[in-house]
Amino acid sequence: MTDTHWLFGDQLGPAFLAPGEEGPARDAPVVMIESRSVFRRRRFHRAKAHLVLSAMRHRAAELGGRVTYVRADTYREGLRLAVGRGRVTVHHPTSRAALRLVRSLGDVTVLPPRGFLVGPDEFAAWAKERRTLRMEDFYRRVRTDHDLLMEGDGPAGGVWNLDRENREPPPRGARSLGAPAPYRPREDDIDEEVRHDLDRWERDGDVSFVGRDGPRAFPADRRQALAALRRFLDHRLAGFGAHEDAVLAADGVMSHSLLSTSLNLGLLDPAECVEGAEAVWRAGGAPLRSVEGFVRQVAGWREYVWHLYWYFGEQYRTRNALGHTGAIPRWWEELDADAVSARCVATALRQVRDTGWTHHIPRLMVLGGYALQRGWDPAAVTDWFHRSFADAYDWVMLPNVVGMSQYADGGRMTTKPYTSGGAYIDRMSDLCGPCPYRPDRRVGDDACPFTAGYWAFLHRHRDRLGRNARMSRAVRGLDRLRDLPALLEQERVRGDAPP
Ligand code: FAD
Repeated sequence: MTDTHWLFGDQLGPAFLAPGEEGPARDAPVVMIESRSVFRRRRFHRAKAHLVLSAMRHRAAELGGRVTYVRADTYREGLRLAVGRGRVTVHHPTSRAALRLVRSLGDVTVLPPRGFLVGPDEFAAWAKERRTLRMEDFYRRVRTDHDLLMEGDGPAGGVWNLDRENREPPPRGARSLGAPAPYRPREDDIDEEVRHDLDRWERDGDVSFVGRDGPRAFPADRRQALAALRRFLDHRLAGFGAHEDAVLAADGVMSHSLLSTSLNLGLLDPAECVEGAEAVWRAGGAPLRSVEGFVRQVAGWREYVWHLYWYFGEQYRTRNALGHTGAIPRWWEELDADAVSARCVATALRQVRDTGWTHHIPRLMVLGGYALQRGWDPAAVTDWFHRSFADAYDWVMLPNVVGMSQYADGGRMTTKPYTSGGAYIDRMSDLCGPCPYRPDRRVGDDACPFTAGYWAFLHRHRDRLGRNARMSRAVRGLDRLRDLPALLEQERVRGDAPP
């Protein structure tokens, strides 16, 4: 009898059913399991729960009679109901917990992972050759091996990385970048059913969510995901690069692709995204700085993060190099943006509350930076990001939050903590103008929480950061602050109240 093929909820594109030696049998029956306990274990954003369930049910509708779609309490129970003792194949899941589970079940064959450009052996061979795993080296290897944006043996345009050209502040005085609007899907009957179910689960007290319910903002099936990709490539990619690191209060999306949810659900394959972007550049439709910037995000960062998740091992999730133990305050947990006066935190938190998404810089420099400066427990911060973002999965959380944003790995992922005073936020955004706090004030009622928080953070970790070549100058700056005692007392009193 043909093995049944199991699709997890983030394995929804055609690559996960492609038959072959390393894939399921042709026309293999398919099982999908909607596990209620996943939603009971964690308090997810409502928009995330909606997106995942909607995407799974859309896939099931496409597969029609080929799929057995089971609603069960746990995966184990669902699998028993659907296939009994029959043999099952599954592509390598994306979390350690899911991998442990499938390996613990008898008669389940784990096939290689899908949804990434670089295979495990390719990464292992690269990692074995070196002492430090720099993203830039990895990225160049991927570009070369996968012939992406190459001219002969060298990079297109003669340089590998155009990041320097892509750090422009927002255009002065502009409220918006003026990019054409991103693709937004239209809801259908499946969404209505999902909304109805989630309302019922909540009413029954079975699960509870954070964030607001709103029209689904991201693609839930392959057709929608392809439309979103096409719209980005044809209309928005050209503007992607220049202001990649900038933030505008009234333009939360700017020129970002909004493709992370589709990539992470498996609806889009990274190869079609980067090859599509390269084709636009070769046809003269977008400048190299934008195309290289996008290719670096997808073929560089996303791949690097995926492999580091497995490479760093299980202990990575509990790393806490800075010894941070603070609890996440309730207003943050509840995404209560209205309780916050600091415009940068309020704007980022509001966008997360309303959509389950913000772009990279609010995640890293505002939300992550604030948590780091306040000394919140990195595992709790990781869990918060995981639950609150529509595109978050275990593999993408750990390197990005534990490593990149909270420096809890003591520098394996980044050479220094990513956090700054208010001056950086002021330079790269229009957030500070009407804010009641002043980025150049350290002490006083109008002292910027990021500026004061930055110095308090440096002071707290003076010894460790003083030994870091990239931080030692900033740490020495503490000696020049005559108001440091007043600043530290002010921050102690402010504590974790909404800034
Ligand atoms: P774009 O800016 O258009 O970038 C294009 C694509 O590049 C993204 O869709 C994504 O697939 C990929 N990418 C870029 N940077 C990264 C990265 N560091 N890690 C993985 N992929 C990357 N990304 C997620 O997919 N899920 C998350 O839960 C997530 N959480 C993050 C938490 C923190 C604290 C930080 C600092 C970053 C996080 N990222 C996460 C990475 C990045 O912020 C998002 O991928 C991006 O903002 C998604 O929006 P976009 O699709 O418009 O991205």
